[in-house]
Amino acid sequence: MLDFDNKLQKCNVCKHEYTSIHTEVIPGVKVYVCDNCLEAAKHNFIWICMGCGTVYIRNKKLVIERITDNELKRAYLLCQDKQIIQGIDMCIKCDPEGILNYMDIQKVPVC
Ligand SMILES: [Zn+2]
Ligand SMILES: [Zn+2]
Repeated sequence: MLDFDNKLQKCNVCKHEYTSIHTEVIPGVKVYVCDNCLEAAKHNFIWICMGCGTVYIRNKKLVIERITDNELKRAYLLCQDKQIIQGIDMCIKCDPEGILNYMDIQKVPVC
């Protein structure tokens, strides 16, 4: 869900533009998104790692095609028209053992 602030913050996705638009990715954690990145979110799923701040932008069609879990696939199909920006706890960058594959999203989208 998108919300507005009265002050500008740097966009957490591109880390370049300033914006007042934000969304709560996990309770208590706000992520700011500029207009450009919101536009990108129409066609891509955007994940932000809460551990290191790395942003992953992945084409919705490709992501959904690669999901093998039917329940998860259904959840993503339901959300494919929404602008989704999600927080993930850990990503491939901050996972030293590389067990976690960032394309292997296990988290059910919230929309
Ligand atoms: Zn941005
Ligand atoms: Zn990370």
